[in-house]
Amino acid sequence: MQNWKRYTITAALPYANGPVHIGHLAGCYLPSDIYVRYLRSRQREALFICGSDEHGVPITIKARNEGITPQQVVDKYHTMMKNSFAEFGISFDAYGRTTSKTHHETASAFFKKMYEQGSFEEKETEQYYDEAAQQFLADRYIMGTCPVCGNENAYGDQCEKCGSSLSPTDLINPRSVLSGAVPVKRMTKNWFLPLNKLQPKIEQYLSKHTNWKTNVYGQCKSWLESGDGLQPRSMTRDLDWGIPVHAEGAEGKVLYVWFDAPIGYISNTIEHFNGSDEWKKWWQDNDTRLIHFIGKDNIVFHCIIFPAMLMEHGEFITADNVPANEFLNLEGDKISTSRNWAVWLHEYLLEFPGKQDALRYSLCANMPETKDNDFTWKDFQLKNNSELVAILGNFVNRVLVLTEKYFESKVPDATECSDLKAFMLQQKTKVEDSLEQFRFREALQEVMNVARHGNKLLTEKEPWKLIKTDKEATGIVLYDCIQIIANLALIAQPFLPFSSKKLFEMLNIDGSQLNWENIGDMTLLKGNHQLGTASLLFDKIEDDIIEVQIAKLKNTVEQKPEIPSTITAQPPALNPEIVFDDFAKIDLRVGTILTAEKVEKADKLLKLSVDMGFETRTIVSGIAEHFKPEELPGTQVCVVANLAPRKLRGIESKGMILLAEDENGKLIFVSPNTAISNGSVVR
Ligand SMILES: [Zn+2]
Repeated sequence: MQNWKRYTITAALPYANGPVHIGHLAGCYLPSDIYVRYLRSRQREALFICGSDEHGVPITIKARNEGITPQQVVDKYHTMMKNSFAEFGISFDAYGRTTSKTHHETASAFFKKMYEQGSFEEKETEQYYDEAAQQFLADRYIMGTCPVCGNENAYGDQCEKCGSSLSPTDLINPRSVLSGAVPVKRMTKNWFLPLNKLQPKIEQYLSKHTNWKTNVYGQCKSWLESGDGLQPRSMTRDLDWGIPVHAEGAEGKVLYVWFDAPIGYISNTIEHFNGSDEWKKWWQDNDTRLIHFIGKDNIVFHCIIFPAMLMEHGEFITADNVPANEFLNLEGDKISTSRNWAVWLHEYLLEFPGKQDALRYSLCANMPETKDNDFTWKDFQLKNNSELVAILGNFVNRVLVLTEKYFESKVPDATECSDLKAFMLQQKTKVEDSLEQFRFREALQEVMNVARHGNKLLTEKEPWKLIKTDKEATGIVLYDCIQIIANLALIAQPFLPFSSKKLFEMLNIDGSQLNWENIGDMTLLKGNHQLGTASLLFDKIEDDIIEVQIAKLKNTVEQKPEIPSTITAQPPALNPEIVFDDFAKIDLRVGTILTAEKVEKADKLLKLSVDMGFETRTIVSGIAEHFKPEELPGTQVCVVANLAPRKLRGIESKGMILLAEDENGKLIFVSPNTAISNGSVVR
């Protein structure tokens, strides 16, 4: 085992097109925070780096949908995420952003060095192009019908309805989301990282890390061993949002977001140290242990592509471990931001003020370390009420209340119990071993076992009975229990920092003067030390609170059915402007369809008789592909009543029915939203 001088801990840069949810927390931010807090408590030199990932296609799509600029999108979510993390106690040393000047400079310089030393291969490939919008289209910018489930709004990379992963050529009736045009293929030049050639280097790197979590190591092996192994991957994109590529013939191209984002760890470190050389020891010293905390969807980027980039560049250390977690589900279903099936951190913080540790506890106890796991509100309630309240909170409360009653809230003058010291030291070692192996659930269990042990001690010794006969013996019991509380405040601190702080306040001691190595010390509080005011460490969470949350989830899903947001193009080109008099020439009236029948030898036409109030008319309408004749009688419609009659298939049609067309070409009637007399004027 290497003797590390310091630790650089990174947490995956959250993508700045939406807020943070509990899946993100359980996958990456909570375990990394627990680990860093533990390292700091052990007096290890550690730097905890994160920031917002602000480039890439989904942000440009969100901006387009909302009619704002990509910069406005990322400004909004960067601030929101940064504040939520801070409030939740995620203790980043630096939380930067990839739109910063420092990051643009760092990522550009990184690319430039690799470009100049010939690390990339230039290749011309065929890419989809929108001739109307005159730009290349990322897969996400192409929509069409999913060949698997028939969803008409599937994206060029995946169908969000059935989850199939697709390529744009799979789509039926592909269309550009920019203009609606059918995309065409065009040649374009990009810069590829030849991962096929780098494969031996990557294999050698991974062979030094066979101790990684099996889910991580296994996924790396399958990337290397499946098919022809690793393939070259383009590190540039034809896009206008991102970091411009400085290379010959690279106008209009930006760095691939997965090239620039992990460099964000480095640039956020540089920014943290204000341009001094201090950052270098965190990224260039072989005695620094680099650990990337991520979710399983990022494994290939952090275990293969980023290390390949770092090794190719040549001036940086690579990760010693990448303890990726699996996914957290919610109430038995995949968390989905498009369906709003999620528990959002910023909403939790508003709705459960002061209850950060209840969520930290529940997420840690359910952490998806080796397989996907489930969060349910009922389980959250159960963990809060029957573990935090009933075990930890209850122990602390009983001890402090009894000490107040029998000893005026002063630590009884007694001596330490040697059995307890041995027990605490054993718990300390267990938690250390678990955390060093990134087994957070197991570690948390051992923390709770300390509180369980305290409760057992109280139950066995019964100080509330003992006081009647032996005050000195009662003092010894409470002295021991108070030392256990102080130890709990230390050992629980990485997991439950807010409660730890409260415990120190209740004990009236300065927690900042203590650290991990004080665990096992059964003299942390001296005899006659005046304790602080006891308060409840955790509150019970009642059923109605939980039911509100479950109902909220169900409602949001009903309000937002499983339709991916359709993309509205830039304002469409309108017909030439008209004056009011032009409009006033049109006589629009309400009518009711009386009968409808197919027109022979015309697939698209229906012959309708329409009650106009003042007369019944025959109107031929091109709607046969959209409506069945039998469903139309009784439908109120709007009619252009003064349109000159014309003959269609030998039938004279008097007037025209107004229809709206959705983005897929489906027609619906423009109708009054309540029944109104036939012949009424529309204006
Ligand atoms: Zn589908």
